Amino acid sequence: SPILMWFRRDLRLGDHEALSAACDSGRPVIPVFIYDEETQGQGAAPRFRLSLSIEALSKSLVEKKSKLILRKGDAYSCLSKLIKETGAGSVYWSRLYDPVSKDRDTRIKAALKKDGIEAKSFKGHVLFEPWTVETKSGGFYKVYTPMWKMVRDRDLPSALPTPSKIPAPDSWPSSDALNGWRMGADMNRGRDVVVSYCTVGETAASHRLGVFIANRVSNYQKNRDIPGVDGTSGLSENLTYGEISPRKCWHSGWDALHDGKNDAEVFLKELVWREFAYHLAHHTPRIVSENWKEDWDAFPWKTDERLAEIKAWKQGRTGIRFVDAAMREMYVTGTMHNRGRMIVASYLTKHLMCHWKVGMEWFAECLIDWDPCSNAMGWQWSAGSGPDATPYFRVFNPVTQLDKFDKDREYVRKWIAEERQNPSATAKSYFEAIPRSWNMSSNDDYPEPIVSADEGRKRALEAYESRDF
Ligand code: FAD
Repeated sequence: SPILMWFRRDLRLGDHEALSAACDSGRPVIPVFIYDEETQGQGAAPRFRLSLSIEALSKSLVEKKSKLILRKGDAYSCLSKLIKETGAGSVYWSRLYDPVSKDRDTRIKAALKKDGIEAKSFKGHVLFEPWTVETKSGGFYKVYTPMWKMVRDRDLPSALPTPSKIPAPDSWPSSDALNGWRMGADMNRGRDVVVSYCTVGETAASHRLGVFIANRVSNYQKNRDIPGVDGTSGLSENLTYGEISPRKCWHSGWDALHDGKNDAEVFLKELVWREFAYHLAHHTPRIVSENWKEDWDAFPWKTDERLAEIKAWKQGRTGIRFVDAAMREMYVTGTMHNRGRMIVASYLTKHLMCHWKVGMEWFAECLIDWDPCSNAMGWQWSAGSGPDATPYFRVFNPVTQLDKFDKDREYVRKWIAEERQNPSATAKSYFEAIPRSWNMSSNDDYPEPIVSADEGRKRALEAYESRDF
């Protein structure tokens, strides 16, 4: 009987344990993607970016004389229907670790088993399963560095090749048309702008990794912190949708290190930060929705989305150049440099004293590399409420950070058009992408800071010190 290969965030053919196992079985394989409620609930930019990834996977499967069957609706109902239509006896998938996916998958596994269907999940989204990484006393890691030390030298099997053949069924079930799902419909942020910054699909992701290892990894340690320089891999959008496996990135990093490119170790460490996010989400699922450190529940975070400071932050007009440049970068490109993410998150949660969830949700709306676990960890880390977080009293100064990481103001020039004789085309593109209702023009005066670096820091520290929790 056929195997349903249920694709989710593993939209590739190479180094795919579930797909390889299905193909090796000799049974017909029916690749499926389900646009279920959980996926429909994602923000506009990630949903749109996902549609590009589905399209790329469909094409790769056609080249292999296979096909991606698209269905929309509750995942269990769609799978059950397909099982009836095709006589499939098994469903395979790659495991996910965020609480929403985990709850869904656990439910579906139990229901399928009850129906007498084999439901088999595989590793594919992580380097190390969260339950295989333990502290010496047998618990999970709450601090990153010891976890890195624990996994650094672990052996990982080589990446699996793309299956030479994907056995097709005698007849194919019907499929929805991807266009009909209108996954880009909510992109009111100029989707043509965002799409031109996307690097989509397995082939492009592999190429991107190759270029990074050949040209950039040698200077990664220094350049990765400078937003005006193209110094990082850019692979997060591909890892998010599984267009490349973390294992392939890991082995390439190790090869570079063995070739004497010492900075490759920093890249490996970053891949383990991603692991740490899944590790934490698996062991403490509340990290995606609640203060990880419960004593932060008493902190007077502001949450009202109508507040002028929250609007100004989202719209990139706080009057703090580093913050505004980064927020505009995200709106136009669907991504934001890591240094920018730390600065805007610190400014929102500390200078503006707004809840990290406000920021996390806006990122979830705008990022093409949105990942529920990394996003939550990043926000709680920045706010001080998370595991291994920056202490609350360490408030990033967005002005001195600019002197340190954007000395020549390249990043700021790239993204801020106001008060310039010849603003860059990129800076101007922001004003074409934003909704009219924001009422912003590149001819405006650049705003005064809504809360200055010094004043915000003072206020945040006072609130922190006077807290009675
Ligand atoms: P590189 O520097 O090339 O790093 C290689 C890979 O390591 C990345 O692709 C990514 O998978 C992983 N990585 C690097 N830094 C981190 C990190 N701090 N945490 C977890 N993984 C990391 N990353 C996401 O993938 N999705 C998110 O939704 C997300 N939200 C974030 C929110 C905040 C507030 C912060 C501070 C960070 C967030 N990050 C998120 C982490 C990080 O900013 C991005 O992974 C990174 O900027 C991606 O760029 P890159 O692929 O060029 O990274």
